[in-house]
Amino acid sequence: MTDPTNEALFARAAGVIPGGVNSPVRAFGSVGGTPFFVARAEGPYLVDVEGRRYIDLIQSYGAIIAGHAHPVVVDAVTEAAHGGTSYGAPTEREVLIAEAIVDRVPGVEQVRLVSSGTEATMSAIRLARGVTGRDRLVKFAGNYHGHSDALLAQSGSSVAQLADDASTGAAAAVPGSAGVPAGTVATTTVVPYNVVPRLDDTVAAVIVEPVAANMGLVPPEPGFLAGLAAECARVGALLIFDEVITGFRAARGGAAEWSGVTPDLVTMGKVIGGGLPIGAFAGRAEVMAHLAPLGAVYQAGTLSGNPLATAAGLATLSLLDAAAYARLGAGAQRLAAGLQDAFDAAGVAMCARTVANLVGIFAGPVPPRNFDEAKTTDEARYARLFHAMLDGGVALAPGAYEVAFCGLAHSDEIIDEIVDVARSAAAAID
Ligand SMILES: *Cc1c(COP(=O)(O)O)cnc(C)c1O
Repeated sequence: MTDPTNEALFARAAGVIPGGVNSPVRAFGSVGGTPFFVARAEGPYLVDVEGRRYIDLIQSYGAIIAGHAHPVVVDAVTEAAHGGTSYGAPTEREVLIAEAIVDRVPGVEQVRLVSSGTEATMSAIRLARGVTGRDRLVKFAGNYHGHSDALLAQSGSSVAQLADDASTGAAAAVPGSAGVPAGTVATTTVVPYNVVPRLDDTVAAVIVEPVAANMGLVPPEPGFLAGLAAECARVGALLIFDEVITGFRAARGGAAEWSGVTPDLVTMGKVIGGGLPIGAFAGRAEVMAHLAPLGAVYQAGTLSGNPLATAAGLATLSLLDAAAYARLGAGAQRLAAGLQDAFDAAGVAMCARTVANLVGIFAGPVPPRNFDEAKTTDEARYARLFHAMLDGGVALAPGAYEVAFCGLAHSDEIIDEIVDVARSAAAAID
C-alpha cells in the first residue's frame, strides 16, 4: 500500500463502499470528476493522498470552525482518549457542555446530547409530537434536517439533486428518497420558505433552518421568523430552529441570538462536536421534562455524550470568544466581496452573498429567496467554477446547494489568496 492516488483509491472504494463514499455529496456526482482523498488537514488546508494542498472552504460542511487540527482541540481529544473512549455512564464533561449551551442559547434551559444532527432533529420532532399529542409536522421546501424518514421531503443539500420534487406550494409531502414509505411523510406538510404558513391545531411542530444553508444560502426575510413564532404560539405548536449549521457559528448564541427570535426547541450538531460525531437538542425544562427517564418520550444512545466528542466540543467553544466572532464575520464579508468582485470583473452571472457569517455562491444573476428560485442555479456553471477553483488549489463544496465556510484559520491573507484564485477561475469559465 504505497502512494495511493485519488483515482486508485476511488476505484477501490467503489468496490467496497456504495458509490465509493459514506455521504453522497462527497462522490462529486454533480460536479463530475474524481474526489480527492484527504490524507491530513491543518488550519485552513486539506492535503490529499497525492500531496496536493487545498485551501478548504468545506470545513466538514460546517463542523470545523477553529481550523483543522487546532492544537487546543487535538490536545483535549488526546487527553480524553487516554481516559477511555466510552463508558455508558454519565460524565462531568456532559454537564459542562450542557451548561455551556444553556449559557449561550436564548430560551434553552435543558439539553439532551445525541451523536448526529440527524438524530437531533428526529428526536426533537418526536419530543414535540409527544408534548403536544399531535402528529403533523411542517417543514420548508429546500431546508435540510438530516436523513430521517419524516424529514426527507423536498430537502435541500444533496437530496436536492436526487429528487426533483415537482411542487413547492403547500402540499402533502412526497418522499424525497426511495425507501421512505408514503405513510411516513403523510404527516409532513412542506411549505415555501420565507412565507409564514397558516397553521391549525393539528400541527405539533414547525421545523425551520433559521438561515437556510442547504439550498445555497437564503436569509430569512424580515418578519419571517418572528411571524412563525407568533403563528406557532397561536395554535400551540412548537417552533424548532434547526441550528445544526448556525449553532455557535452565526453568533455565540446561534441564529436564535442573531435573529432575536426565541424558538421552543433548538437542534445542534456540527460546531458543537469540534469535528467529532455529536448532536444536541434543547429547550425549556418544562418541554424537555417529557423525555425519558422523566417523561413518556423515549430517546437514548449508547454513544450519547461521548467523552471524546464532548472534549472536542468544549475545547472548540473555549476558542469562540467575541474576537473569534468578529474574525468570522470580517472573514465572511471579505470573502463574499472578493468573490463578487471576481465574478463581476469576469462578467460571469454569479453572486456571492453573506448571511450572518455564512457565505453562499449562487450560479445565476439574482440570489434566491426560496427553493424554487434556488433550483434555478446553473449547476453546470457552478461545476466549472468548482473545478477551476480546485485546479487553483481552493476546495469549494462539490455541490451547488452547499455553502462556503470560513473559519478562524482563514486569515485575510488566505482569503485574498482564495479571491486571486477566483479571479483566474471566473475568467476561465463562462
Ligand atoms: C448537516 C445538517 C443536519 C444533519 O446533521 P448530520 O450530523 O449530518 O446528521 C441537520 N440539519 C441541518 C440544518 C444540517 O445542515
